[in-house]
Order: sequence, then C-alpha cells, then structure tokens
Amino acid sequence: MGILDKIKSFLPKKKEPELKNNVPKEKENIRKTFGVYCRNNHGTEGDKLCPKCTALLTTVFTKIGRCPYGIGKPICDKCETPCFGENATKEFRNVMSSSQRKMLMSHPMMTIKHKLQGLGVDYAKQERDKKSTDKQKQDEEKIKNKINNAMKSPKSSKTKAKSKAKKKKK
Ligand SMILES: [Zn+2]
Repeated sequence: MGILDKIKSFLPKKKEPELKNNVPKEKENIRKTFGVYCRNNHGTEGDKLCPKCTALLTTVFTKIGRCPYGIGKPICDKCETPCFGENATKEFRNVMSSSQRKMLMSHPMMTIKHKLQGLGVDYAKQERDKKSTDKQKQDEEKIKNKINNAMKSPKSSKTKAKSKAKKKKK
C-alpha cells in the first residue's frame, strides 16, 4: 500500500449521488390525471376509466417500464423522444395538458411537483442548448484564429505541423 492509498483510506469516502426514482410518483400523477380526464370527458365515475383511456394508460405504463432513460427519466410530457407511438403520444399529451387545471384543484401538491419537474426538464434543455452554441462559437473562433495564424506566419504553422508529426511517430 502506497502512502497515497493510506491517506486516501483515512479520508471519508465520497458517496455517489443517489439517483432519485421519480417513476412511481409520475405514474401516480398520470393515473390520477387520466381519472380526472375520463370523468370529465367520458362520463366515468370515481377512479374508473373507460376502455379507451384504460388502453392508453396501459400503453403508457408499459412504455414507462421500458424507458431507455431509466429511473432518472424526464417526465413523459416533456420527453424529446416519446416512445408511445405518434397517436398515443398526441392523446397522452392532450390528456395531461387539458386536465392540468382540474388536477391542480383536486391534487394541488402533486400537480405543482409535476409542473416543477417539467420546468426542470425545460431548464436542463435550455442549459444544454446554451452550452452547444457556446461550443460552436468557440470552435468557430479557433478556426478563425488558425486561418489568421496561417496567413500571418506560414513558417510557424509549418514547424507546428512538423512537431506534431514527430509526436505521432513516437
Ligand atoms: Zn375515458
């Protein structure tokens, strides 16, 4: 055991950040939203769903179980690669968005939490887009600088190329 390893063994071990499993909560939210939607649009009673909504909900739950993003998934209403199929995704998003107000009345906390999660996804997307444009700008600058350097001092760029070639040989 080296000295470094010994020191490391005394230090508190870093805990891996725990991945929160939001899937059960999301499923509950979706199930309740479907209940609200079906009651208001298809005249069902209580938590019962009509056959059409039952079928759609079954599809949604099956797909969530196989979600490639795992338990850290974005909420399905905000997913960029929805896996329910075109029609089911459209119907699902319609159910979720049109029942939001009524859900807020009957399950305020749950609805607000779901909304916040959605906002989190939006924020992450924004940050990612920002980063990618920043990177593009940086790349553009680099290319510009390279061109400028090559125009100004052709010799230095040649020597650089030579040293690179040497490194490759090694
Ligand atoms: Zn229904």
